[in-house]
Amino acid sequence: MALITSLLSKPKSLAGNPIDWVSTHRYHHQFCDSDRDPHSPIEGFWFSHMSWLFDTDTVVERCGEPTNVGDLRQQPFYKFLQGTYILHPIALGVLLYALGGFPFLVWGMGVRIVWVYHITWLVNSACHVWGKQAWNTGDLSRNNWWVALLAFGEGWHNNHHAFEYSARHGLEWWQLDMTWKRAFRKRQRSCTRRVVIEALRKLLVCTNEGHGKPSYIVTPIVEARRVTPGVVLELTSHRTPT
Ligand SMILES: [Zn+2]
Ligand SMILES: [Zn+2]
Repeated sequence: MALITSLLSKPKSLAGNPIDWVSTHRYHHQFCDSDRDPHSPIEGFWFSHMSWLFDTDTVVERCGEPTNVGDLRQQPFYKFLQGTYILHPIALGVLLYALGGFPFLVWGMGVRIVWVYHITWLVNSACHVWGKQAWNTGDLSRNNWWVALLAFGEGWHNNHHAFEYSARHGLEWWQLDMTWKRAFRKRQRSCTRRVVIEALRKLLVCTNEGHGKPSYIVTPIVEARRVTPGVVLELTSHRTPT
């Protein structure tokens, strides 16, 4: 339910429909902080924060057409959101005006959207400029505590780039991650399992390529063992080289 609410919030916040948004974001991970990254601060803080959005041809020029979201295009829910994208903010605006008139419209649409925009964009800009790198991800991603507070946990961005299939961004006990706590507490075992799988894959890559440090994967595995005893043992006994 939280996931659906989150996906629906993108159209309501005029943040683009999820298929286009995911395409850009996948390209960001694929070409992170290179000259093909759709929004890297290597071209300046403000470019990564917001000006890239106004150059509508930028992503296509750098990454090509959005051919990396075929899985989402097959799903009716995402196709529905793409087809009806513009109707969601209009419907919300009409509802807010009906409930509280112009003040509701200003605060519920104008102020809210500007606030959410900039916090979202700070993940792309500030989290690739300021903060600490807990993981040797080979890009500029950073864990930034104040963005994490504003973005309900998404500021632990270096963790995210290190374990990009993990819904959990705050890996240490003190890394507050409200999105994870709210949406995934009941599914912690399966999600933590994915973190471990990814950590093991990275360990195999480090081992095979002869670089990287074993400590690169220690923290999530220790954490996973604490949260889900038995899973680490199970996975390590069944892993196969990739
Ligand atoms: Zn991401
Ligand atoms: Zn990033």
